[in-house]
Amino acid sequence: MVVELISVGTELLLGNIVNTNAAYLSEKCAELGLSLYYQTVVGDNQERLDETLKLALGRSDVVILGGGLGPTQDDLTKEAAARTLGKQLVEDAHTRRRIEGWFQTRGITEITENNWKQALVPEGAVVVDNDNGTAPGLILEDNGKTVILLPGPPGEMKPMFEKDIFPYLNKKQPEIIVSETIKICGMGESRVESMIEDLIQAQSNPTIATYAKIGEVHLRLTAKAENETAARKLMKPVIRELKVRFGGHIYTTDDAVTLEEAVVQLLKEQELTLTTVESCTGGLFTGRLVNVQGASEVLKQGFITYSNKAKRKLIGVKKLTLKEFGAVSSKTAKEMAKGAILTTGSDVAVSITGIAGPDGGTDEKPVGLVYIGVSVKGNMRVEEYHFTGNRMKIRESAVVAALTLLRTSILETIKF
Ligand code: ATP
Repeated sequence: MVVELISVGTELLLGNIVNTNAAYLSEKCAELGLSLYYQTVVGDNQERLDETLKLALGRSDVVILGGGLGPTQDDLTKEAAARTLGKQLVEDAHTRRRIEGWFQTRGITEITENNWKQALVPEGAVVVDNDNGTAPGLILEDNGKTVILLPGPPGEMKPMFEKDIFPYLNKKQPEIIVSETIKICGMGESRVESMIEDLIQAQSNPTIATYAKIGEVHLRLTAKAENETAARKLMKPVIRELKVRFGGHIYTTDDAVTLEEAVVQLLKEQELTLTTVESCTGGLFTGRLVNVQGASEVLKQGFITYSNKAKRKLIGVKKLTLKEFGAVSSKTAKEMAKGAILTTGSDVAVSITGIAGPDGGTDEKPVGLVYIGVSVKGNMRVEEYHFTGNRMKIRESAVVAALTLLRTSILETIKF
């Protein structure tokens, strides 16, 4: 099935906003196994919009239009779709009630007239409720062609697509698509790829795609089959094989779970409390942990010891250590973690010290050099890393490396 995207909005043409919706929708179409050959951006202009839609309908089975569904004069998408398909616009009572309800729950009693425009739909259209705004999505089927209209704001479009449009398109396909993601940490992309070269070469159904993230690699398996059970059955032996090959490097097989969630979960399961001591990451690591709901059950305290004085005063790093080895050294990372344990009495401590750049590097200690210390129930481990990229990338790489080292250290401690 051939699908085509039309993004509507003059602000997109002017470069005022970046077309992130198109990137998102393209990825989703690929995931669905749809063939996407054309994408167009068109301004809020009636003639050009009609022309673009006609052209798209002539060469594609499904046309997805995004934006221009709002209440204002320059929102023309719905009108263009109705005109092109020869449909009248009629009021949809259900949508009108939803719009009323939307304003009511926000305490707005005076609803301007133009808002009711959003309750007009081309006759015969399937209305897709918008849980995050007032303009509903619409699906129009006509002469074997399908036109899908989606609101422009990503916060409205994405949930609508996930909830209703993805399953709708999936059902239209003769075979459905099911995906699973295997998330790997502590291994670079090239190493991961080299370990599954044979599987990638032999792939047909399921397919395997690798996605490199900062400090992580995600493997996305996609299977096509007549139903979900059959698709999962096709993936099962491949997942089993990947588990054998990557073992403990796989931190989850659930697409929704992040590395920090997996780490917090592990700490919870092992009933371990944690203290963090950060220098170059300045709270970024602790922040990632705090993003996880329920982090308070494990996180005792976080220190940001950016200066040497803070490292000495707050967590007892020795003056001599800082003088002889420097703030960015294995010894300092070790004393930071040790000091954190002594100060707070937690079971686990993580320390991070490094040079995020762009200044401050030397031949001996270049920008990107980071030491991470992890102490789990008295077992201390310090690792040296050399990260590349700008200041933010180095700091983010350090955070992911610290999460990975923390996870590995806990798993190793459990083993013994
Ligand atoms: P509204 O009810 O807000 O008018 P709409 O469906 O009419 O919604 P537009 O008016 O076209 O949508 O766009 C509203 C906002 O949505 C834009 O200002 C922009 O912030 C965002 N947006 C629209 N199209 C895109 C896009 N393709 N990519 C990213 N953001 C977009």
